[in-house]
Amino acid sequence: MLKLGSHPKVYKCSFCGKPDSQVERLVAGPDGVYICDGCIKLCTEILDTEDKGEDLISAENLPKPKTICSILDQYVIGQAEAKKTLSVAVYNHYKRIGQPKTKKDEVELQKSNILMIGPTGSGKTLLAQTLAKILNVPLTIVDANSLTEAGYVGEDVEDILASLIQAANGDIIRAERGIVYIDEIDKIARKAGTTRDISGEGVQQALLKIIEGSNVNVPVPGNHHQPMPAMVSFNTKNVLFICGGAFNELDKVIEKRLHGSKLGFGTSQPSKHDKDVSKLLREVMPDDLLNVGLIPEFVGRLPIIVTLDELNEDALVDILTKPKNALIKQYKKLMKMDDAKLVFEDEALRLIAREAIQRNTGARGLRSILERIMRNIMFEIPSVGGSTVCTITKDDVLLNKEPVVKVSKK
Ligand code: ADP
Repeated sequence: MLKLGSHPKVYKCSFCGKPDSQVERLVAGPDGVYICDGCIKLCTEILDTEDKGEDLISAENLPKPKTICSILDQYVIGQAEAKKTLSVAVYNHYKRIGQPKTKKDEVELQKSNILMIGPTGSGKTLLAQTLAKILNVPLTIVDANSLTEAGYVGEDVEDILASLIQAANGDIIRAERGIVYIDEIDKIARKAGTTRDISGEGVQQALLKIIEGSNVNVPVPGNHHQPMPAMVSFNTKNVLFICGGAFNELDKVIEKRLHGSKLGFGTSQPSKHDKDVSKLLREVMPDDLLNVGLIPEFVGRLPIIVTLDELNEDALVDILTKPKNALIKQYKKLMKMDDAKLVFEDEALRLIAREAIQRNTGARGLRSILERIMRNIMFEIPSVGGSTVCTITKDDVLLNKEPVVKVSKK
């Protein structure tokens, strides 16, 4: 007969669950907790990678606002005010992270997330991407349209942090200092006239939790340290959140506030020039954002408001040619690889810019216009061979079809 309590006690690793017979060493902790040699090794490896921190942004390697702004100038055309405000904002954000822990009665620097307001294709995403590059911090870009409150079909806000961890190659410490850019934030505004709007207000509430700085359990897929998917505790206190949106009705709301209801909705008003819209947007106050459907707590978490101007013809021509990775520079490089020289007449560039303005998608339209113009050329040139010059004229753009390749020998 089996006597109760006659079995020898089996000690197990509290982490991987292996019994002492399957491991080399089992180290005992208080209250019957054990860890095996395998898990100790794994933990040391994890700490080693996390402690590396060589490329972590710190007060010492943080570029000054003027330096940040001058690098932004190399990639982003125009938007001078936005660049200046952003340079200062990210500088202060990362300086704040670098400061030693504050004592109880000392001034505590609070996190300041950013709201970027500006038309489609004016450079909001590009600014966020370039800032992340300058600071060498991971960046994730999310579309607010895809977000839902927890429990609804779509992406949960925790998934944003999971993709930030992915952008940091699994390095949680780096991810905790990363940037999250949430695009189309105006699409989660509360719809006018509804007091309970699940899709809009609920998502704002869900986002608040991560934006204000808290510990969030984030699902992460397995990696070589930890083959199984797991939940990690992620602190968002030092993550910089940048939200961007076009807020198409905002200028009317601001105008109404500034000039009274005479010029408000539903009255006939002269069509506004882009410049007027940009000027109005600069006057934005937090209350205006409440009037277009953001909830007060959400607006309160985005204290830095940056407005971007609509890009005019000159700016679009500059975008085609001047930035480090300008589209025309890229096409020229491609053609050079086939020993061909690509030339754009000035008037052709102007027409491309004008066509983009008509499309109303800002600089975003430039690429597809150029693709149409360049497709046939890129098809023909590699077979022409030899040193050739290919010139794109005004007519090539005007004819609204793929230009015939006109080639002259260099
Ligand atoms: P937004 O986020 O404001 O809708 P994006 O930043 O995504 O616009 O811009 C789309 C593309 O247009 C970018 O990849 C970039 O090539 C170009 N672009 C937009 N604005 C600018 C700008 N101000 N300077 C240089 N390129 C720009």
